[in-house]
Amino acid sequence: MLIVMQPNTTEQNIEKVVNFIKSKGFEAHISKGSDHTVIGAVGRKVIDKRDIELLDGVREVIRISSPYKLVSRVFKQEDTIIDVKGVKFGGGHIGMIAGPCTVESYEQMDETAKRLCECGVKVLRGGAFKPRTSPYAFQGLGEEGLKILREVADKYDMRVTSEVMEVSQIPLFEKYVDILQVGARNMQNFNLLRSLGEIRKPILLKRGLSATIEEWLMSAEYIMSGGNREIILCERGIRTFEKMTRNTLDISAIPVVQKISHLPILVDPSHATGLRNIVPSMSKAAIAAGADGLIIEVHYSPETAVCDGAQSLYPDQFAELFEELKALAKIIKKSF
Ligand code: PEP
Ligand code: MN
Repeated sequence: MLIVMQPNTTEQNIEKVVNFIKSKGFEAHISKGSDHTVIGAVGRKVIDKRDIELLDGVREVIRISSPYKLVSRVFKQEDTIIDVKGVKFGGGHIGMIAGPCTVESYEQMDETAKRLCECGVKVLRGGAFKPRTSPYAFQGLGEEGLKILREVADKYDMRVTSEVMEVSQIPLFEKYVDILQVGARNMQNFNLLRSLGEIRKPILLKRGLSATIEEWLMSAEYIMSGGNREIILCERGIRTFEKMTRNTLDISAIPVVQKISHLPILVDPSHATGLRNIVPSMSKAAIAAGADGLIIEVHYSPETAVCDGAQSLYPDQFAELFEELKALAKIIKKSF
C-alpha cells in the first residue's frame, strides 16, 4: 500500500502514520520527494485503508497488492486444471456441462441425459434444491432429485453438478454430486464458502448478480483459504439497466479473470440471457473469448419444463451448437 502525504506535511504527521502502520504489523518505507512524502506499507496483514486516510496529513492511500492471494497468479502462475473424474477444465481443456434447470423426474433426466450423452457431454447438471425468487415456485425435489441425478448420470457414465444452498446440505452433496455448485444468490454466503473450503470436491462458484470481479475472487479466496483448491469460476451475467435479456453477459470478465487468477472460468449463457435463441451466439462468444467451458441448460421438452424452459435448448439445437463449438475450439488450439 502506498500512502501519499499532503504536500509539505509536518514530520510529526509522517511519524504518526509510520507508527500507526507499524502498530498494525506493516513495515514502513519512506520516500521523500521535493514536496510530497510517500510511505510504502509492506506486509500481509489486512488493514482498512480508511483508517489511514483519516490520519492527519494523509492525501491518498493507494492499494497495490490485491486483497486476494491464493487465487491470484502471483501465488500460482500456471493455469489450474480441475479434473473431475477424467473431465478437465482449464489449461487448454474446455469442459461442457449441460442439462435441465431442475430435476423433475427420472424420465425427464433420462430422456435429456441420453441425448446429451449422444452428443459427447460428460457432465450433467440439474438442480435439486432451487433458489427461487418466489416462495410459491417449485423448490426442487431435494434428496430425491440428487438420487435421480446420480442414477441417470451413472447410467450414461457422466459426472454431475448441482447447487448446494446451505451448510447442512453438504454431506448429502458429498454423497451424490461430483461438483458442488454455489449459485449467484449464495456467492457471499460466507458460512457456506468456509464450509466448502473444508471438503475435497470441486466447487463451481457462480458470480453474484451484482458482484464485482474482486468480490467474486474474494469469495473464491474464502474457499481456497480453507484448503479446497478445486474451484471453477462461472460468469452467469450481471444485473444492469438492460431489460431485453435476463442479465447482461460480461464477456470481458473472462480475460480479466484469466489475467489475475489461475482458476478456470466457465460461462453460463442460459442464465445470462434467459432466452434460448441468444444462447448459441453467446456460447460461441464465450469460447472465442477464451472461456474454459460452458454450462448450458438443455431440456428434452422445454415447453413442459417446470422452470427456465424459455432459456433451455432443444436437444437437436444443442447438438448442432456443440459441433460448432468443437470446431471453434480447434481454431483457438483448444479442445472439449
Ligand atoms: C442455476 O444454475 O440453476 C442457477 C440458479 O443459476 P444462478 O445461480 O446463476 O442464477
Ligand atoms: Mn435455471
